[in-house]
Amino acid sequence: MNCEEARELITALVDGELTQVERSSIETHLDDCPRCQSAYEQERALKKEINRVALSISAPADLKRKILTDHGILPVEAESLSGWSKFALNFHPFLRPAFGLVLVLLVLLPIIYLVRPHSQPISLAALEIQEKIAGGEISLRKATSQNELRDWQTRAVDGNFAPMEYDLYSMHVQPVGGAVQEINGRKILVTVYTGNNMSVTCFTFLGTEEDAPKNATTSFDTAKKIKFYAFSKDGLNAVFHREGDIICILVSNMPAQELLDVARGSSRA
Ligand SMILES: [Zn+2]
Repeated sequence: MNCEEARELITALVDGELTQVERSSIETHLDDCPRCQSAYEQERALKKEINRVALSISAPADLKRKILTDHGILPVEAESLSGWSKFALNFHPFLRPAFGLVLVLLVLLPIIYLVRPHSQPISLAALEIQEKIAGGEISLRKATSQNELRDWQTRAVDGNFAPMEYDLYSMHVQPVGGAVQEINGRKILVTVYTGNNMSVTCFTFLGTEEDAPKNATTSFDTAKKIKFYAFSKDGLNAVFHREGDIICILVSNMPAQELLDVARGSSRA
């Protein structure tokens, strides 16, 4: 066996995947070749380190998968730690720098993830605002009229946009108050409608469809050419849609389909 052949088998040797014949053949070479022996030691140390780091990290499985996929190291779904570390090792030595980067990311990202408390999508943060309003933690400015409330909210964002408005009078639901909140530096206009044992909160802010939650159920209104994203959390239903650069999220205790109809009925083409 020459060095080139030996190097090809080193990873498999470390992983204990060689046949008896291959194994004794490469071991004979390693005994005679200090350079291949050293490559073997490095490979073994690397595998040990990876297993140690993998075991000590509590990053969510999705995050790990995303890191590995983003760096082109993992084209397929990884199911287990031993699975992905073995998979990544098989690319060695070509991806050793990339692999070092992955190790760094695996250690750093969970920390960044924990240190940034408000890194959740804005659409989910909106649901938290809803809960705070319901719990009285956020006080609403009472609406003397919908126009007065809209003018106040529009002034709060320097006239850059206005709250999206809904005519729910036919359902005996009407605007009762509003607020201006800020999430991740973005101002959000909040209008609360109540009546008939229902509550609908409308969140209006500048954004893109990137702000929609990833697990939403989408439907496309072909007439209006608007995509609606329906999602729910803790018993509340929500519908997200975009008109130009303005995002509207409706959050309500009404059934999901009815809420979707409200969002679709009032949206502009
Ligand atoms: Zn050699």
